[in-house]
Amino acid sequence: MTDGVALPRPQDEVARDLCRRLAAEVVEPVARQADVDRVFPAAAVRALAEEGLLGAPLPERWGGLGWDALQLTHLYEEIGRVDQSIRGFLSVHLGLVSQCLLQFARESQQAAWLPRLASGDVFGAYALTEPQAGSDAAAIATHAAPDGDGLRLRGEKVWITNGLSAGVFIVFATVDPALRHKGVTAFLVPGDAAGLTRERMPGRELGHRASEHARLLLDGVRVTKEQVVGDVGGGFDVAMGGLDHGRLGVAAGAVGLLQACLDATTRFTRERRQFGKRIADFQMVQERVADMAVDTAAARLLTRRAAALAVAGAERTKEVSMAKLFATEAACRWSAETVLLHGSRGYVDELPVERHFRDAPGLRIYEGTSLVQRIVIARAILGRA
Ligand SMILES: Cc1cc2nc3c(=O)[nH]c(=O)nc-3n(C[C@H](O)[C@H](O)[C@H](O)COP(=O)(O)OP(=O)(O)OC[C@H]3O[C@@H](n4cnc5c(N)ncnc54)[C@H](O)[C@@H]3O)c2cc1C
Repeated sequence: MTDGVALPRPQDEVARDLCRRLAAEVVEPVARQADVDRVFPAAAVRALAEEGLLGAPLPERWGGLGWDALQLTHLYEEIGRVDQSIRGFLSVHLGLVSQCLLQFARESQQAAWLPRLASGDVFGAYALTEPQAGSDAAAIATHAAPDGDGLRLRGEKVWITNGLSAGVFIVFATVDPALRHKGVTAFLVPGDAAGLTRERMPGRELGHRASEHARLLLDGVRVTKEQVVGDVGGGFDVAMGGLDHGRLGVAAGAVGLLQACLDATTRFTRERRQFGKRIADFQMVQERVADMAVDTAAARLLTRRAAALAVAGAERTKEVSMAKLFATEAACRWSAETVLLHGSRGYVDELPVERHFRDAPGLRIYEGTSLVQRIVIARAILGRA
């Protein structure tokens, strides 16, 4: 059992125990300072790579651990319990890039990049969002124009996680903006490609402050047909397929954040005394703890259900969106209540609860906002005219 949810398979326990140990030994000790300094904790990520986690979902022939989606939920949950910046790095590197390439890339592309991604020799990034194309991904303007026997990419991408140090990008561009989603094409672009420049996004983020959020400029980056992932005009499916993997990581990361809030609140309300009693003995506090525990369990079960569908190879887009929607909304709600229940101690960075509170809103924005998840769920139920 883990936190009341049965683990029927021994490989789940192995994954959970390894990730829980690494979260405590490698990630937690650096999380607070990395957030304060706004510096990506590269040494901690390299330590995770040495344990094989940067290849967790890849098969052994590409240097991976061969973990399935259920095992991966443990990875994201355990790391997300202590830090969303490194968990976010992993969701992008593993879900949006490595698993996306495993699903859509040709054998030669996989051979070129997956072993390097698995070892951590290169970090991966997924470049979809543009200044004028966020939720409406089919509106991207980055143009892939014919150039001899290849193409040239011109455009701008924003908010690209891992974007400063990534050694490979999946860049989404359009061969014809008028075609909307039918023009979108995915390209594998090496980090050192001529014409590609990156810089840190302006401003200081609310949360995920140890993540790299980059603005990319593609100024005539030359690509060949061998760099197309999937088919020309088939990139929208690649983008959405990547999101099925990535969103599951965000949902499981939110479960970790919820569990961290529940643990912190349990600990604190049992210790803190006011009016001659433990504050845990007040019914208004108990109501909040009970509801937080129910939502945490529900978020975990929705996430594991979506992961189980992935393991079975079943269609799961709706269930992944349900898990992401519920878990990330609950994470926002309960991280705010956790700050409240800690009183003034929740308002300062001596404890991680204020960081959880600042990290939670990002979870409901990236990889499709909570409003967009509702559109996905409703469309799956109602169909389209
Ligand atoms: C921390 C962080 C990391 C990120 N990492 C990446 C990354 O690695 N790669 C990448 O490509 N992008 C990344 N993004 C970008 C992210 O995916 C987008 O911010 C997100 O998709 C929303 O797009 P937008 O910000 O342009 O908001 P907009 O699309 O402009 O939306 C603004 C508001 O309008 C609402 N809205 C839009 N359309 C509809 C509709 N049809 N119906 C109802 N409401 C609607 C939205 O829900 C939102 O509330 C990241 C963002 C953040 C904050």
